[in-house]
Amino acid sequence: MRKAYVAGNWKMNCTIQEATDLAKELVKGLASDANADVAVIPSFLQIAAVKEVVKGTAVKLGAQDVYFENNGAFTGEISTAMLKDAGVEFALVGHSERRHVIGETDAIIRKKLDALLAADLEVILCVGELLSERESGDTEKVLDTQVKAGITGLSSAQLEKVTIAYEPVWAIGTGKVASTEQAQSAHKYIRELVASMFTQEDADKMRIQYGGSVKPDNAKDLLAQPDVDGALVGGAALKADSFLGIIAGA
Ligand code: PEP
Repeated sequence: MRKAYVAGNWKMNCTIQEATDLAKELVKGLASDANADVAVIPSFLQIAAVKEVVKGTAVKLGAQDVYFENNGAFTGEISTAMLKDAGVEFALVGHSERRHVIGETDAIIRKKLDALLAADLEVILCVGELLSERESGDTEKVLDTQVKAGITGLSSAQLEKVTIAYEPVWAIGTGKVASTEQAQSAHKYIRELVASMFTQEDADKMRIQYGGSVKPDNAKDLLAQPDVDGALVGGAALKADSFLGIIAGA
């Protein structure tokens, strides 16, 4: 049985004070018997302050992105060593906003994933189709391409450090959540794909999160799907009560 994994991506929101307050409310409200692993993903500038709040608690700390070089003349970028130094345990790669707003390619995303694993950090690899791709029947083709580009050639030990987040782009920040059938079908497809690339045991161990307008009132049904092992949450993670409501649905 895979333990649910619920992560809150705060994106480009929150002052340091707001992020600290949010983390404090979350730590306070989190039941000691919560049925899920829980993580917060503040922006780089809030990581140090949030670290002070979550250290010694069950809340994991992640970063929204990373650069694949170790150090040097890469103005504006943050390396894996810097993330580790700040107490970060994992980072997102391939979030749809980085793919479709910033223009990151599968090749860049893979370099970031490799850099994180080389630094012994965990990864949440985000994949998902655009609305036009779903409408043209290309969802599985897109998932195939993005998953293969992301994890082909990893060892089983490396794969254990990777969580995949299925995030249909049309459902992110739009209030349009995927139906439980759409989510389950995409997650099952991803798990079968991972099994075909690695082993069934590797695929059975992998946690696949759903992301896209997850709220307290839809989390329970989504998380009840056999291949939905958690949630990557944007908007609803910015308020402690709604994020805690989602965790309660796990
Ligand atoms: C996300 O940022 O990954 C996300 C799923 O956002 P939202 O929950 O707001 O749709």
